Amino acid sequence: MNSRTECIKKLVSGSFDVLIIGGGITGAGIALDAASRGLKTALIEKNDFAWGTSSRSTKLIHGGLRYLKQLEFGLVKEVGSERAIVHKLAPHLVVAEKMLLPLKEGRGFGTLLTSFGLKLYDWLAGVKEADQRKMLTRHQTLRHEPLLKPVGIKGGGLYAEYRTDDARLTLEIIKTAISYGAVISNYVEANAFQYTHEKVSGVTVTDQVTQRSFPIQANQIVNATGPWVDQLREKDKSKTGKTLHLTKGVHIVVPREKLPVQQSIYFDVPDGRMIFAIPRGRTTYIGTTDTDYVQDIDHVVTTQEDANYLIDAVNDSFPAVKLSLNDVESSWAGLRPLIHEEGKSASELSRKDEIFVSHSGLLSIAGGKLTGYRKMAERVVDMLAERSERDDLLECFTDKISLNKNNFNNADAVSEFKQKISAQLASFNLAAYTDYLIENYGRQTEEIIRLLAACSDADSSMRLVRAELKFTVINEMVISALDFFIRRTGMLFFDMPRLLLVKDVILTDMKSLMHWDATQLQAEQEKLEQAIREARIAPLNSSP
Ligand code: FAD
Repeated sequence: MNSRTECIKKLVSGSFDVLIIGGGITGAGIALDAASRGLKTALIEKNDFAWGTSSRSTKLIHGGLRYLKQLEFGLVKEVGSERAIVHKLAPHLVVAEKMLLPLKEGRGFGTLLTSFGLKLYDWLAGVKEADQRKMLTRHQTLRHEPLLKPVGIKGGGLYAEYRTDDARLTLEIIKTAISYGAVISNYVEANAFQYTHEKVSGVTVTDQVTQRSFPIQANQIVNATGPWVDQLREKDKSKTGKTLHLTKGVHIVVPREKLPVQQSIYFDVPDGRMIFAIPRGRTTYIGTTDTDYVQDIDHVVTTQEDANYLIDAVNDSFPAVKLSLNDVESSWAGLRPLIHEEGKSASELSRKDEIFVSHSGLLSIAGGKLTGYRKMAERVVDMLAERSERDDLLECFTDKISLNKNNFNNADAVSEFKQKISAQLASFNLAAYTDYLIENYGRQTEEIIRLLAACSDADSSMRLVRAELKFTVINEMVISALDFFIRRTGMLFFDMPRLLLVKDVILTDMKSLMHWDATQLQAEQEKLEQAIREARIAPLNSSP
C-alpha cells in the first residue's frame, strides 16, 4: 500500500474517471473492478476501511439458506455461486466450513422439505458432488453435536458454506485495487457534492487526520456508503422514492470451552428465527439478532437485551451449557443497509442490492451481502463504463484476480504453506499461531516472520504482535489502535485476554511509529478502553 500522505497528494491534485465514497466491501469491490478495467479510480472512507457493516457481519461467505424460505431463488443462485469464486480468489481467507442444521419436531420445515431445500441450495449454487448436503438421522445428528438438547431432535442436514474475516477480505480487495492503480485513503470524509451544469462533478472532503478540507474532481461518483447511503442522497437532494431500512445485528463471543460446539451450527430459536454458533480459534461466536434500528448510526453497540436474546437461544438448544452474560468476552453490533418495503418486518426484508441513479448522475448502491460484492461491483462498473462512452475499457475479470497476490491454487496449497510456516514459527515458539496468521495474512505471513526476527522481546507472543503492528502500519494504513485491534487482527473480538496483555506495549509502539504526542496517546488509550467496555457489554450499554 502506498503511504497515506502520497495518496492524499494524489487525491488533491488528480482528476478521476470515478470517485467511490465508502470503504466497506461494496466500495472496495467497485474500486477493484473499475481500476482493473482501466478507469482512473479513487476511493475515500471516512473512518477506517471496513469500519461500518463490513467488519460486523457473521463473517460467512454463504448463499443465505434462509432466503430460500422467502423464495428468493435468484439471490441464492447468485451469492451461492459466488462462494466458490471468492474461495478461489483467496483460499486462505475464505475457508470451507460444514454447517450442521438440526431438525426439530414442530419447528422449521419437515425433514423432506429440508432435504429438498438443501438439495436445491446446492444445485442453485453449483456445489461439487463431494461437498453436497448430507441428511442425518437423529442419532447421527446428536453424534455430530452431543451438546444439542436431544428432546425433539428428529434429524439434521450437513451442508457446505465458507467462513472468512469480513474486514480482512475488504482490506485485501482494497490493497489489490491499489495494485491496479486506484488511489485510496481511509479517514477522508465526503462532506458535500460539487456540480457542473447540475451534474455531480466532485466532492468536498475533509482529511480526518489533519482536518484539512479539499475538493476531489471526478467524472462519475459512486455512493457506496452502506447504512449512510441515504445521508449522502440527502446531500445530493435525491433521497426520493425507495429509502433504506436499517436493521441491527449483534454477535457475542464466548471462550470455546463455554460453548464447545464441534463445528458451525445453524439452529432455530423459539421465536422461529435461526442463529449461528461458529467456532473460531479459542472462541465460539453466536449471532445474530435482527431488529429495526433508528438511533445513532455512527455508534451502534450491543445492549444487554441483545446479548440476553442470544444467550437464551443458546441455553434453549444446548441446555448443559448454561451461558450467562458473565461468559461474554466480546461482542459487536452492525447495521444491515436494506431497502425498505412497506409492511415487511426486519427479517422479511429482501437482501437484494439496488442501484439508484439521481438527476445529478450520482450513483448509489444499497442492500446486498458481503458474499455478493463482486457481482454488485460488476453491475455498478458496467453502468459506469456505459456512461463513460469509452471503448478502451476491459470487460469485468475480477473472477480471475487473486486477492493481493495470495495466489494459492486451492485449499491444498494453503495446507502445504501452513506446514512450511508452522516449522518456521516453531523456532520462535509460535507454532500455535499458524492458522491465525495464514488465514489472516496469507503469504504475507513471511513478511511478518522477517519482522519478527528483528524484534527482541523475550515473550514470543509479544514479539509477534509487535511484528504484526509494524507490518500493518507499513503496509495497511493503520492510523489508530482500533484499526489494528479490530480490523487488522480481529483481536478485540476473538482474543480479548491477549489484547489486555499487549495493549500498553502496542500503544507505546504506536506512539513512536505514528509520532503521537502525549495528548494523542491519551486520546487513543481512551478510545481503546471505551471500545473494550462496549464490546464486553458493560451495564451502561442498555437500550435507550
Ligand atoms: P459498509 O461496510 O457499512 O461500508 C460503508 C462505509 O462508508 C463505512 O465504512 C462508512 O464509514 C463509509 N462512509 C459513510 N459515510 C461516508 C462519507 N460521508 N464519506 C466517506 N465514507 C463514508 N453478508 C454476508 O454475505 N455474510 C454474512 O455472514 C453476513 N452477516 C451479516 C451479519 C450482520 C449482523 C449484518 C449487519 C450484515 C451481515 N451481512 C452478511 C451483510 C454484509 O455485511 C453487508 O451487506 C455489507 O458488509 C455492506 O457493506 P457496505 O460496503 O455496503 O457497507
